[in-house]
Amino acid sequence: MPHQVARFDQESHARCFIPCPRLTFLIHKPDNLVCQICQETRLTFASHRNTTTEWADNTPAILPCGHVFGFRCLERWLQISNTCAICRLAIRYECGHRIPPVAITAGTVLFLPRTIPYGGTIPSKCTQCSITTGNLAPVDLVEGWARARRLYVETGEKEWIDVCIIHLNRIEAALRDRLPGCFSW
Ligand SMILES: [Zn+2]
Ligand SMILES: [Zn+2]
Ligand SMILES: [Zn+2]
Repeated sequence: MPHQVARFDQESHARCFIPCPRLTFLIHKPDNLVCQICQETRLTFASHRNTTTEWADNTPAILPCGHVFGFRCLERWLQISNTCAICRLAIRYECGHRIPPVAITAGTVLFLPRTIPYGGTIPSKCTQCSITTGNLAPVDLVEGWARARRLYVETGEKEWIDVCIIHLNRIEAALRDRLPGCFSW
């Protein structure tokens, strides 16, 4: 019956909308989560910390819109499409580069970026473009750090170590939100 099929799809789509994955995966542990690209793979949250970056078919992966799919399917999908398979949100930075799927595992779940429905935003540029265009500010900071380091080497004055550390802390703070897969899309 077509009506039932449509209803099933709608329910499955709704189940794959996970705007707050931290809460959902750590507390509610969604069951019956099926990848809506292949409509086949049952997604499972790896509760052990996985040290590999090779994610499996059944590793859940999230997009900025909050829709979750199987990692491998999503990767393949984003190679041929610029949009989310469910809501059609554009999955591109303004610089034109692809937003990579973000795997949801015990090791990543606490560092996931906020989804758009949960108040997150997509940065205008990918990390690489932000760094190369100097948009990320650290270019100046890195120069400051290199200068202080050079002065320490040349003069041996310990104060330059402190200046180095101040610069390093600022670089780290500027980069913290922009590390791929960590806090930001
Ligand atoms: Zn799939
Ligand atoms: Zn979506
Ligand atoms: Zn880019």
